[in-house]
Amino acid sequence: MQKKHEDKVDSGRILRFDHKDTILSRGYWDPDIVPLMQEFGSKWIGIVPPKGSNGYSPIDFALRVGGWAVNEYGAPLSEFGVVGSGLYAWEKQELPWVTYARANPTPADDEKRMSKVVKTAARLMGASLVGIAAIDLQWVYSGWFHRETKEHQPNPLEVSGEYRYAVVMALESNYELFSYSPDYRMAAAVGLGYSKMLEASTKVAAFIKSLGYRAVACGNDTAMIVPFAIDAGLGEQGRAGWIITKEFGPRVRLCKVFTDLPLEPDKPRAFGVARFCAVCSRCAEACPAQAISFGDPTDQGPTDCNFHGIHKWYMNPVKCFSYWAKMGTDCGICVRVCPWNKPNTLPHKIIRNLLANSPFRKLALWGDRIFGYGTKRSDDLFE
Ligand code: SF4
Ligand code: SF4
Repeated sequence: MQKKHEDKVDSGRILRFDHKDTILSRGYWDPDIVPLMQEFGSKWIGIVPPKGSNGYSPIDFALRVGGWAVNEYGAPLSEFGVVGSGLYAWEKQELPWVTYARANPTPADDEKRMSKVVKTAARLMGASLVGIAAIDLQWVYSGWFHRETKEHQPNPLEVSGEYRYAVVMALESNYELFSYSPDYRMAAAVGLGYSKMLEASTKVAAFIKSLGYRAVACGNDTAMIVPFAIDAGLGEQGRAGWIITKEFGPRVRLCKVFTDLPLEPDKPRAFGVARFCAVCSRCAEACPAQAISFGDPTDQGPTDCNFHGIHKWYMNPVKCFSYWAKMGTDCGICVRVCPWNKPNTLPHKIIRNLLANSPFRKLALWGDRIFGYGTKRSDDLFE
């Protein structure tokens, strides 16, 4: 799997990424990845019982299950790459007043005003950050992969052609739980994030539909979320591959709502992440799987699971997922140690603003270590 794939970069033209090639989709058909998915899955669903040590106790396991519950009841296994699951389905029985609104749409001539309205609603419905991106087909998966049938189907977003914008939302993950990563307590934070994704995107989609326009809630499937979030001005991509937001660092989950409601797209915003990552490698040092590059940004990733052709830092999803399989849970160490991962409190906001674009970045890194930020917590959460 450690290959270069020049075929994905065609004379400078970026070819679109197929949903079938994501690491989690490959877990259902690629002989190199299927054993990892089986190992991870058997531990994840409890066939292999919790290990019993701190962070893996039955109580910690139950916390993780509780965190994931809304996602698992509402969109089963969407996190494993099941497309259009449950509330994320493109076709579902519609609420009665949505049918009425469709026939009597609210005028939306003022795109600036409608953007403000949608963003306000999104925040009220759970979004920590919200931005708007025009739909760029480059970021839309070239196909849908159904893990049950192993069939490859056309992407409904592309087939429809009627959706013009993505309302992109970032949902803050729990800081305290992430400080335990990697174990079931951090996995509970991930699950809470997935549950919030489903809730917020479903509510925002219903809000837009009740104005008389098309809207589809979307989690991980249909399109790559990080490029959409960058286009929507929510953050920059860092060395570890995650988006880094100014407010919460990489400690967010992302979801989107596709719509034909006329909106005003935001612009990408750079606030110093690329320059900070150039002098920082804490995520790469801390990664137990050596999945994060210490080098400079490149145009190609190391595996078939990477979307090649963008100049950026590539991580190795195969090495990363191998570690998840070994541990039987999500990892998140790279999020925990990232200096941008801080509570969004006033002192941290001031320091972030002072240091993001100043020559004192190395001093900030030194201070981060001295003050012990990013250290794994080892206490019992329930004591
Ligand atoms: S989640 Fe863990 S294994 Fe994966 S890249 Fe981050 S630190 Fe490495
Ligand atoms: S830990 Fe450092 S190098 Fe890694 S993403 Fe965060 S700021 Fe960038």
